[in-house]
Amino acid sequence: MILTVTMNPSVDISYPIPEFKLDDVNRVAAVRKTAGGKGLNVARVIKQLGENVLATGVLGGTIGDYIIQELTKAEIENNFLKINQESRNCIAILHDGKQTEILESGPTLTAEDGSAFLAKYETLLSNVSLVTISGSLPKGLASSFYRSMVEKGRDKGIPVIVDTSGESLRQVLLHNVKPFAIKPNITELTQLLGREVEQSISSLSQALEDDMFQGIEWIVVSMGGAGAFVKHGSDFYRVTIPPIDVVNPVGSGDATVAGLAVALKHKQPAPVVLKTAMTTGMLNTMEAATGHINTAYFSRFFELVNVEKI
Ligand code: ADP
Repeated sequence: MILTVTMNPSVDISYPIPEFKLDDVNRVAAVRKTAGGKGLNVARVIKQLGENVLATGVLGGTIGDYIIQELTKAEIENNFLKINQESRNCIAILHDGKQTEILESGPTLTAEDGSAFLAKYETLLSNVSLVTISGSLPKGLASSFYRSMVEKGRDKGIPVIVDTSGESLRQVLLHNVKPFAIKPNITELTQLLGREVEQSISSLSQALEDDMFQGIEWIVVSMGGAGAFVKHGSDFYRVTIPPIDVVNPVGSGDATVAGLAVALKHKQPAPVVLKTAMTTGMLNTMEAATGHINTAYFSRFFELVNVEKI
């Protein structure tokens, strides 16, 4: 079983309003609400790949109840820490061919909430063989929080994949206990290193030689339609993908993490791991729903991914 962690899940609400009127009343009929947060996208895609998944994290209030209800409807096992505060709504207004987002920051956790979650996480680790941690930390928790989660995984010999950014990613990377895999994009790499990283083999390989990446088994730098650049142990790979019709690219990084998690859990050889991760990313971009893939197309696109060892 794979454990997916979402520390600040949300209900994502989309309001299609073709002609949005500022400072006026906008009425909306076709409201769409989904359980959101990067880790929940990962959980959904893992489930669609036919793998057992357990979703955890922190939630509360009626919004939290709605998230649990949605996960249960999708037959995704879940075990979240419930807190005495309301989880967040994230609103996307789709108007005039644009997308305006209003993102609540969500609850502020107390130190007790943090310890209660870590205790739950440790218990859950007993029944899982791989962990994915995705997205930002809620307010109130130290930026070293994910670092402790990676350490607890390592203590139990369970590989942990971390897909986050900013200070919490930096904290994870500066620790001597390393995650098993990370999936930064080029923007995140640039932020981490504090210097521009370009989409060239020389710039990327030089970036990944930085001390902060030493000891991480898999570094998958995803590059949207350009595929990925990867460091596995001391090997580098350039992975290219075919041109596809993109419907909605939101969540493709999460779908990539899901593919990576499933292939790594099955200890697949490197080319299969990378082809699986790229295929799930691509399949997500081909669907309107975020964190959703059509597995009927899996083998067709898997065959079209090219993995070249450099
Ligand atoms: P993130 O959302 O984390 O920045 P990316 O945009 O790099 O992640 O997307 C992750 C993966 O999804 C890519 O490596 C690729 O496999 C697939 N993907 C994303 N955008 C496209 C696209 N425009 N065309 C084809 N595949 C895409």
